[in-house]
Amino acid sequence: MNSEFANKIRSDFPILATQMSGKPLVYLDNGATTQKPQAMIDALVHYYTHDNANIHRGVYELSQRATDAYELARKKVAAFLGVEDAAECVFVRGTTDGINLVAASWGGNNLKAGDEVLVSGLEHHSNIVPWQLICERAGASLRVWQPNAAGELDLQQLPEILSARTKMVAIQHVSNALGTIHDVAEIVRCAKAVDATVLVDGAQWVGHYATNVAELGCDFYTFSGHKLYGPTGIGVLWGRRELLEAMPPYQGGGDMIETVEFSKSTYAPLPNLFEAGTPNIAGAIGLGAAIDYVQEVGFERISAYEDALLEYATEKMTSVPGLRILGTAARKAAVISFVLESPSIAPLDIATTLSDEGIAIRTGHHCCMPLMGELKVSGTSRVSLAMYNTFEEVDRLVEVLNALVSRRASKQATAADDSNSS
Ligand code: PMP
Repeated sequence: MNSEFANKIRSDFPILATQMSGKPLVYLDNGATTQKPQAMIDALVHYYTHDNANIHRGVYELSQRATDAYELARKKVAAFLGVEDAAECVFVRGTTDGINLVAASWGGNNLKAGDEVLVSGLEHHSNIVPWQLICERAGASLRVWQPNAAGELDLQQLPEILSARTKMVAIQHVSNALGTIHDVAEIVRCAKAVDATVLVDGAQWVGHYATNVAELGCDFYTFSGHKLYGPTGIGVLWGRRELLEAMPPYQGGGDMIETVEFSKSTYAPLPNLFEAGTPNIAGAIGLGAAIDYVQEVGFERISAYEDALLEYATEKMTSVPGLRILGTAARKAAVISFVLESPSIAPLDIATTLSDEGIAIRTGHHCCMPLMGELKVSGTSRVSLAMYNTFEEVDRLVEVLNALVSRRASKQATAADDSNSS
């Protein structure tokens, strides 16, 4: 495969023509956030230019237009997730907010002393800390399913880990730190055998592969718009109607009520029940436009291209002397976490050198401190690819890494010579 596919869509993303450190931008930090297509930017500008008003409350036409656009975005989200009932899709701020909502509201209602919440050892902090908070309050405990050396979750271990005490399995679809794709459908099947509820963190999946929550069989699915070519500050929590309807409100305020009296309030039906206050109207509309965009490009083509690019990048990067890739799962999304070990070069030095060459990657613990501890590294350098990245960009990355390694190696050799001769 070559870069033809990416080259066709690159012109839809104006920022890709920009420069960084005086060099053409090579953006390889898509796991942190994706860049935005012009159609998405145009939708935001159109909304603020032509339709801006608060939603749901106004009888005037402008407010109606804003409401219609906001609710249309919800329908697009529902179709995107393979959900028939759009009211099951709640707009939230992002994945973090979606998980906190479920932990506080569902967890507050359902977890009691002695219960267990199961998370994997690869989880992002946002799928650990909210569960710790609610477990502490409820007297429940957090159990951890650790991955194997390749960064995979061994399904054979699951029946032993799960028990009647397991009330919630909170699991990522794809690891942001290593790229592992988990077999969520199978995890759900095992969890259902002990009647556990399953929440899936879809943050790193939705931009790369088609999503169908019915096929997964999970109970909650949450993701962030900004990792799906949409705006920041908007995300989605999908939940089964019967579960959402049995949950108490997460936040109180305007728009989530039916009646308010000082003695008692009654609440609005789904999805408004979980959307207290003025929501991110423009964000939802922008997310709807981003969904239109990716669906037009087509996930079949996106996934096939990214898989080929990942294979190429993995092979090329493996050829860099002293480079070790962490996470070698059989099923991986386009994430490559690595360390440079001989010569040893700190992730921060790697990222700084790359930045000087216009290449953006991320270093550190990737909000996965427990996983880094398990892997016995303080952090990694992470390349995360998207559909607009090219094979040539990978070549450029590898060229700069090779130059860095050989500079560092010759510096060390000179230092060793100096100390031998002195
Ligand atoms: N889970 C995973 C797997 C992630 O990669 C991220 C973002 N890095 C999050 C959760 C949190 O997403 P957000 O910061 O958009 O809420």
